[in-house]
Amino acid sequence: MTVTYDHLLFEISKKGRRAYSLPESSVEKTELASVLPSHLLREEPAELPELSELQVMRHYTGLSNKNFGIETGFYPLGSCTMKYNPKINEDIARYSGFANIHPLQPEKSAQGALQLMHQLENSLKEVTGMDAISLQPAAGAQGEWAGLLIFKAYHEANGEGDQRRKILVPDSAHGTNPASAVVAGYDVVEIKSNEDGRVGVDALKAAVGPDTAGLMLTNPNTLGLFEVDIVEIAEIVHEAGGLLYYDGANANAILGKSTPGEMGFDVVHLNLHKTFSTPHGGGGPGSGPIGVKAYLTDFMPSPRIEKDGDYYKLTDNHPQSIGRVKGYYGNFGVNVRAYSYIRTMGAEGLQQVSEDAVLHANYLRARLSPYYDTPFSSHCKHEFVLSGNRQKKLGVRTADIAKRLLDYGFYSPTVYFPLIVDEALMIEPTETEAKETLDAFADALIEIAKDAETNPELVTGAPHTKAVKRLDEVTAARKPIVIYQKAHDNS
Ligand SMILES: *Cc1c(COP(=O)(O)O)cnc(C)c1O
Repeated sequence: MTVTYDHLLFEISKKGRRAYSLPESSVEKTELASVLPSHLLREEPAELPELSELQVMRHYTGLSNKNFGIETGFYPLGSCTMKYNPKINEDIARYSGFANIHPLQPEKSAQGALQLMHQLENSLKEVTGMDAISLQPAAGAQGEWAGLLIFKAYHEANGEGDQRRKILVPDSAHGTNPASAVVAGYDVVEIKSNEDGRVGVDALKAAVGPDTAGLMLTNPNTLGLFEVDIVEIAEIVHEAGGLLYYDGANANAILGKSTPGEMGFDVVHLNLHKTFSTPHGGGGPGSGPIGVKAYLTDFMPSPRIEKDGDYYKLTDNHPQSIGRVKGYYGNFGVNVRAYSYIRTMGAEGLQQVSEDAVLHANYLRARLSPYYDTPFSSHCKHEFVLSGNRQKKLGVRTADIAKRLLDYGFYSPTVYFPLIVDEALMIEPTETEAKETLDAFADALIEIAKDAETNPELVTGAPHTKAVKRLDEVTAARKPIVIYQKAHDNS
């Protein structure tokens, strides 16, 4: 593969070159100086690149071809559920009736949109086993924060707001969990996982008390392991007067199989951009709806969508509500995709998602476990964690393995997370990949493991086929250069 370095537009600029020119206008020019205050006028023209239209087009098309995405290759990032999102859901989100409505339009003229949101809420109630849903939060992390504000409102309503200051978070949790707890004004207490990679019931018992506001948990957890003691865990927290928050980022593993509601959780979020067909990455728009049990509905974000006969309305007469957490009603386009996905998959299709996701993860795990350390012995759910410890002893780190995978055309799995596994490689194949793709990925990782023994420099020097090789990550983080500096004059 030949590798080319693309010049910046600034570097190929030629003085006076234009992409497009119009004939001289016969209309008299207005001098800017006569309409703008003099201190706002430039003394010299801005240094913009001067190029032909073809140069500009080829530059950007070339850059877009360098993008790696789920459309171009296998993307096994753990904890992210980078699954393929059927294009039909994109088409439906672009229907003009959905795409061209305005959030300030009168309720009466947006009945279809409100009906869709109401029906999506009903579907998500079934998926989560919760009694009420709010579609407002724009991401999982924002759902966590909103959910914890509901914890707070609940404890305050019970006169225990001052006393219940602590949120318990297992050490395997995603970083957003403790961060959201802090933003919501709580103190975080870390719960150590036991040797199986699960929440230790004894460690939990030792940590709960009258100061516990609640526990945040992902199930299956970020190691891809189901918390088999979840019913007992819920009882311990509830008996101490705390609430349970379900981080639903891993819902791909349990759709139609189990619900956080029946596991004993009080508040949940889902990531529609992970599990329900909105592409994610690149910052955005996402959606992190939250669901609550009946006794918490009064605290839900406002406004809420209510059905009155055949009429859908937004209500904001909820005096105990935590208030609005997002402008307007959340990211509506994401709601349309999720609705379309759920309706086109049906209940059985959603169950199949989980079965295939779990099957794919266990298949890869079985193929790779002779070559990499598997820190936890049990079957996994939708993702699993390997350790690169065996390779580290040969001088090959997990980061090297990740870079070498790029030469095979694969994106790297999540690395060095969760923090409780040394040299972690966290792999989530998702349900939408073909067996041939899984096999090619396994073959690549197996070959890398063999090279680590026989030809470690091949791995530690990777990537060999990419335009950009190893970066000086420390300097990039400590002394980033984020402004273009002109090296020479091309004119
Ligand atoms: C992605 C993720 C989150 C955060 O969700 P965002 O939508 O990215 O804010 C929380 N927990 C887990 C386990 C996740 O994978």
